[in-house]
Amino acid sequence: MINVTKPYLPPKEEYLQYVDEIWNRCWLTNNGPIVNELELRLKDYLGLEHLLFLGNGTIAIQIAIKTLELEGEIITTPFSYVATTSSIVWENCKPVFVDIDERSLNIKPELIEAAITDKTSAILATHVFGIPCEVEKIEAIAKKHQLKVIYDAAHCFGTKYKGKSILGWGDISTCSFHATKLFHTIEGGAVCSNSPDLIFKMAKMRNFGHDGPFKFLGVGVNGKNSEFHAAMGVVNLKHIADILEARKRQHFQYQKWLKNLKVRMPKPTMEQVEWNYAYFPVIFETEEALLKAEKALQDHYIYPRRYFYPSLNKLEYVEGKPCPVSESVSSRVLCLPVFHDMTESTVDLISRVLLRAQNYG
Ligand SMILES: *Cc1c(COP(=O)(O)O)cnc(C)c1O
Repeated sequence: MINVTKPYLPPKEEYLQYVDEIWNRCWLTNNGPIVNELELRLKDYLGLEHLLFLGNGTIAIQIAIKTLELEGEIITTPFSYVATTSSIVWENCKPVFVDIDERSLNIKPELIEAAITDKTSAILATHVFGIPCEVEKIEAIAKKHQLKVIYDAAHCFGTKYKGKSILGWGDISTCSFHATKLFHTIEGGAVCSNSPDLIFKMAKMRNFGHDGPFKFLGVGVNGKNSEFHAAMGVVNLKHIADILEARKRQHFQYQKWLKNLKVRMPKPTMEQVEWNYAYFPVIFETEEALLKAEKALQDHYIYPRRYFYPSLNKLEYVEGKPCPVSESVSSRVLCLPVFHDMTESTVDLISRVLLRAQNYG
């Protein structure tokens, strides 16, 4: 059986060394030494000023919204994982959907201004599949209308724009280190910001608001993560160059095999992007073609995923205006399997099944 992804697991001995350390110290969670080590190593690797390691990528978005004290309406993308929208609703704000660019599948900056009202407090955009949003255009709009910007950068580990990690953009960028992501800590996430004040506030907020044992700086939540999760991150980070390299190799293998498949792939709309190849999304001409391809793969015990379906403006708990591009793409996009040790013959098999389904199915 081949799934859309498979978590990376490092050599077990490397992880067990950290487990021994944890046993000796008996310090399991609450901002322990391995959590600190991971934060330092991630900042160094990503070239960021500040980063806080959190329980997951969803609490990261929620903490970002709370920290920026957002209220009213938040302009957001309909093409993302459900956590982007549900976090807005969870924080008692209203998501206002702006349709996507059909090349990159990211929010289309040219459509944002028409959606701004006197209740708009922020823009929350996702760099879908690790392809960066048009961050400069979004920043200009935000500045003009005095809006905050949050990026859901859950897919962006390793993606660079103009030579620097895309996680440095926005008032706050959030990341997910869930087991299905390119870099993972089993469960985990992060917030990044260039503002020391925001980082200070978020550091308190992730730990119940504690400022010492008996004093509290505002309302907090439990957004912490453990030494065991941090250890997985520290060990996986040592292998990140291999993980990224394998993704890139598989990407070009797929491209070679799938030249004659009637699909298109999303692409960055900007120059100077170094993509992490985190996913391999293909957009079919029709939903019917997608369903046929999916069925053919399933018959071979290959399970791609329909990331992202449905378009989030169709969720029953939101008031979604139509977003024709997102709705159309959502019904036609399929993510093919990619994971670090997927072999060339698996890429070959998947490609042949897809071509056969198209040409003879
Ligand atoms: C995975 C993901 C999240 C949620 O992250 P978790 O760590 O699973 O909470 C949020 N947004 C996007 C775009 C994601 O892909």
